[in-house]
Amino acid sequence: MIISIASGKGGTGKTTLAANLAVALRNIEPEVTLLDCDVEEPNDHLFLSPTFTRTNEIWAEVPDIDTKLCAYCGKCQEICQFNAIAILPELALTFPELCHSCGGCFMVCPENAVRSGKRLLGVVEEGSRGPLQFVQGRLRVGEAMAPPLIRKVREAAGGDGLTLVDAPPGTSCPVMAALRGSDFVLLVTEPTPFGLNDLELAVGAVRILGIPMGIAINRSDLGDDRIRKFAGKEKIPLLMEIPFDRRVAEAYAKGELLVEVLPEWREKMLTLYDAICRVQGGCGNGHNGREGSQ
Ligand code: SF4
Ligand code: SF4
Repeated sequence: MIISIASGKGGTGKTTLAANLAVALRNIEPEVTLLDCDVEEPNDHLFLSPTFTRTNEIWAEVPDIDTKLCAYCGKCQEICQFNAIAILPELALTFPELCHSCGGCFMVCPENAVRSGKRLLGVVEEGSRGPLQFVQGRLRVGEAMAPPLIRKVREAAGGDGLTLVDAPPGTSCPVMAALRGSDFVLLVTEPTPFGLNDLELAVGAVRILGIPMGIAINRSDLGDDRIRKFAGKEKIPLLMEIPFDRRVAEAYAKGELLVEVLPEWREKMLTLYDAICRVQGGCGNGHNGREGSQ
């Protein structure tokens, strides 16, 4: 069971929900893993303070042209859709930062002159906080290609148990890479014009992937009811409303977990999980998330 927490824009409270849901569920489900796929700005660790036990560097394969073999025919340049190769009469230039590792230039070279080089994408760090397993990706500063690193974070999750994915904000390729294969997507938003606009985009993206979804409204009492109307019109279940609470803002500012400093938040997270399970219909082994609650 893979539940992704996503939002059409940053700053909606997505990471707060993901981290608190994970901690609340770690005593409910036998195995819970939180994946921070927001690799450009992974923040879950600030709330969890996990102990990391493993770090893997993730590399992309890029071309390295052997000029002793190159005949300067230009076929590699022709096939590259990303302008990562420039062939001049006596000069072969590669621009590794532009390469998307499609493999085309390796295949078309008639002289076998394209050797395998590599470019660091970032790291995948694995650890835990008590019984909660935690994996995060960190994109190298200056690196633009996040999806391959996100896929590695997704692969690092064990196949069993409950996996929660904290997806990057937005609706671009990194988001699709994070959401692909999920059983359910919780879209976190806020009741403002910007919130609605970005929610509409996010709903469109999740529909392309064909994944069941629900909506959570953060700071639900500070805007209007445009999100509720949209959810009703689109028949998307509204699973949670979180009114603005100064105590929540204070805990967030200190990097504290709400489920640990505000006891009612544990109950809120379990209720949310129940609602997700009802909509999705297949949580865990068929129970509703409350069985075995401690
Ligand atoms: S395809 Fe091969 S031989 Fe032709 S320019 Fe590229 S590296 Fe050189
Ligand atoms: S691997 Fe693909 S993207 Fe990279 S340089 Fe070769 S053709 Fe271009």
